[in-house]
Amino acid sequence: MQTRFLLDQAEIPSAWYNALPDLPEPLQPPLHPGTREPAGPDDLAPLFPGALIEQEMATAPWIDVPGEVLDILRLWRPTPLVRARRLEEALGTPARIYYKDESVSPAGSHKPNTAVAQAYYNAREGVTRLTTETGAGQWGSSLAFACAQYGLECKVYMVRASFEQKPYRRVLMETWGAEVVPSPVDDPSHPGSLGSAISDAVRDAATRTDTHYSLGSVLNHVLLHQTVIGLEAKEQLARAGEVRPDVVVGSCGGGSNLGGIALPFLTDPAVRLLAVEPASCPTLTKGAFEYDFGDTAETTPLLPMYTLGHDFVPPSIHAGGLRYHGDAPIISLLVKAGRMDAVAYPQGKTFEAAVQFARCEGKVPAPETGHAIRAVIDEALAAKESGEERVILFNYSGHGLLDLAAYDDFNHGRLVDA
Ligand SMILES: *Cc1c(COP(=O)(O)O)cnc(C)c1O
Repeated sequence: MQTRFLLDQAEIPSAWYNALPDLPEPLQPPLHPGTREPAGPDDLAPLFPGALIEQEMATAPWIDVPGEVLDILRLWRPTPLVRARRLEEALGTPARIYYKDESVSPAGSHKPNTAVAQAYYNAREGVTRLTTETGAGQWGSSLAFACAQYGLECKVYMVRASFEQKPYRRVLMETWGAEVVPSPVDDPSHPGSLGSAISDAVRDAATRTDTHYSLGSVLNHVLLHQTVIGLEAKEQLARAGEVRPDVVVGSCGGGSNLGGIALPFLTDPAVRLLAVEPASCPTLTKGAFEYDFGDTAETTPLLPMYTLGHDFVPPSIHAGGLRYHGDAPIISLLVKAGRMDAVAYPQGKTFEAAVQFARCEGKVPAPETGHAIRAVIDEALAAKESGEERVILFNYSGHGLLDLAAYDDFNHGRLVDA
């Protein structure tokens, strides 16, 4: 019984899928933070290279992946598609469960897929230095890796609480040559937040001509770069003998790993799309759909999205990558239009699922990925209940080998949901 479906290196997708022309309604434009008028390319130029600004508003259905980007993606792509047979057996479900293993990248998650593309376009346009923010360090380490490939300087503003408590991703970033500082820079007594770290990184980039800013999720071009995940998975599912998945599942922080696996299935109405978020940061399930800032200091353009408010500070859960007040405008629109469903789980339930997965399949997932696994297990149990043979595809967005303190808390009963 074959359980791993692999593609040849030559089969990395040569074009990204652009979902913008296929959305159920046109996306509303970003607004300038000062004037609240639609923000044009000129407003974004201090922060992003022209190629990414074009991709942000592109109307073409496919956009070629540059050869220089493919050269780097080839270090770990195509990633495996794996059938979780042993999990299926443990659940006694007639469902067939497949996961796309993005944990095999150098940084251990899907994030390098866009970090590499962003670093490339910046380098090509003569930018020599990138700034960004990071929470626990997954995005910062991905960008640090990507900058090393193209010889760019990288400065990462890391949420101070993580900087002090979670040294290993900082060590990774420094190993790849990045400079890492705790944020907020102007208040050493503050534990920091993603929103304020974005403010620090944007301010740095806006005040230097050699520097641009790079964002790891939320924006259209980020989701575009992540579509290699779903495009590969589609081909691999076909080789596994499946016509289509009945449901595609991803955890949702800003929406990039979910968009990456789900958007290539958008135009097939028979495929259900499912976002999974933490109950403590319930952006899609409890937020309001409105224009909001991406950061605390109100320096970024306003985006049309589900949001809990840009001053919302989520409780400190272990799935740091899911603690964001907003969500990608593309994901928000799909949920608002009823094309995508969303569900929220308390963290204890997600760790139960992550541990069950680890004991069956061997791999220890990132706490963020545990959210997707929780929903997958519940979908598989529903299929057992109704006796349906369903095909479930999910994004294994990252490994948890740098999150073992969280597993230690869970294993020893110290992880208690409010
Ligand atoms: C960052 C991260 C997420 C959440 O971010 P998205 O942009 O929503 O994908 C999920 N899983 C892992 C492993 C991450 O590092």
